[in-house]
Amino acid sequence: MSLLSSDTLLNQHSYYEASTRRLVHGEPLVDDVRADVVVIGAGFTGLTAAIDLAQQGLQVVVLEADRIGSGASGRNGGQALVGFASGQAELEQQLGLADAKRAWDISLDAVALLKERLNQHAIDADWRSGALTVATTARKARALRADADQWATRYGFETQWLDAPALSQHILSPRYQGGIHEEVSGHLHPLKYALGLAQVARSLGVRMHEHSAALSLDTGPPALVRTATGSVTADFVVLAANSTLGAWSPKIAPAMHARIMPVGTYIAATPPLSEAQAHDTLPSCSAVCDTQFVLDYFRLSADRRLLFGGRVSYTTMTPPGLKGLMQKRIAQVFPQLGRMPIDYLWGGFVDISMNRAPDWGRLAPHVYYAQGFSGHGVALTGMAGRLIAQAIQGQASGFDLFARLKHRPFPGGPLWRTPLLALGMAYHRMKDWF
Ligand SMILES: Cc1cc2nc3c(=O)[nH]c(=O)nc-3n(C[C@H](O)[C@H](O)[C@H](O)COP(=O)(O)OP(=O)(O)OC[C@H]3O[C@@H](n4cnc5c(N)ncnc54)[C@H](O)[C@@H]3O)c2cc1C
Repeated sequence: MSLLSSDTLLNQHSYYEASTRRLVHGEPLVDDVRADVVVIGAGFTGLTAAIDLAQQGLQVVVLEADRIGSGASGRNGGQALVGFASGQAELEQQLGLADAKRAWDISLDAVALLKERLNQHAIDADWRSGALTVATTARKARALRADADQWATRYGFETQWLDAPALSQHILSPRYQGGIHEEVSGHLHPLKYALGLAQVARSLGVRMHEHSAALSLDTGPPALVRTATGSVTADFVVLAANSTLGAWSPKIAPAMHARIMPVGTYIAATPPLSEAQAHDTLPSCSAVCDTQFVLDYFRLSADRRLLFGGRVSYTTMTPPGLKGLMQKRIAQVFPQLGRMPIDYLWGGFVDISMNRAPDWGRLAPHVYYAQGFSGHGVALTGMAGRLIAQAIQGQASGFDLFARLKHRPFPGGPLWRTPLLALGMAYHRMKDWF
């Protein structure tokens, strides 16, 4: 079954689509063109790389299989967070403490860079500072606090520890036993951000083609990328197609694709809460995520809707009865809201790597890729775009720090990796319950 099957919620309109006007469009590619760089995928990674490269005077063509920002970038939880999905232990083990600290600092820079781009280009994407991570059990709260202590002692990153009663500054829920709050991270309307980036790219002369899936890649050099109706010959290629690359063109980079598992995750948007309801659920408007293996993540939108993310699917099928399940989750976290109506419900695919660390590298000296953001890519993708652009310009030290991280393919090959992962995840969920 195709990842982009109509059985999935991918084709449904999200709250983000409903609250944004698409002013940037790109006609399909219908000719054979020459460029300095061809970027495959118009999400945060591809768009930010394109902007930086165009600012350096390079001619850039972006090929997008669907529409700009229609992948994970335009449908995510909007939480722009410091750090990495893998946690720091994986990075310390693979890179050593000094380089793990460098990577951590780059993750801080990634959030700063996102804010800088919003300000510099006057992109109004409803930015709000503040992020809260919460634990559902006393044991998990101790583990979270230990993590926060390590961030402080090893990386100099201070957060505020809140025990259960103190959490009420940020969240009114009986579910959590403690949490950490910080103001570096925050949240935004991701599709407004993606479309804002696209407008900047357009103003810099980047050629963007929607409905133009790259169907084959001959690495050359020069590289040749073919679509159904045209081709781009370019000195450099940026593969920024995330977990959906294999769906559009499984043959472009099969080895790369084998290291990524597309996992469906879903978001429900309630109608706007009243001011009193908002104050009695998330008074500080911080973004929230918990530390469950299959986590809940939620926040208020600018018009005070509760955007509640959670559930996962390891097949491409939407879980049955999803709306009811999401309503139940919301009521568990916020019993005071009762069974909330749902105005919008949609999903998307997270590109997880086996160790949840970023999987960036080169297929050939001039063919760059960045994948494996593992559900932690809103800020980091913009840094991936910058570091790829720098590497193409000959300054590769930032990019190569991440390219050193080793990754394994998911066991089981294309046929068995999904059932094997589902089994592994079921085990972790059982651990969460007990
Ligand atoms: C529901 C959901 C919630 C999430 N919540 C958060 C969150 O709160 N915080 C966080 O940090 N991260 C979150 N993430 C992850 C984050 O959204 C991603 O890490 C990030 O958007 C990835 O950006 P990208 O540009 O690499 O990929 P994408 O945005 O997926 O862009 C890739 C693009 O490539 C295109 N494409 C694919 N194949 C081809 C081809 N052959 N030719 C041309 N184009 C192609 C796709 O159509 C797509 O538009 C979430 C993801 C999802 C799905």
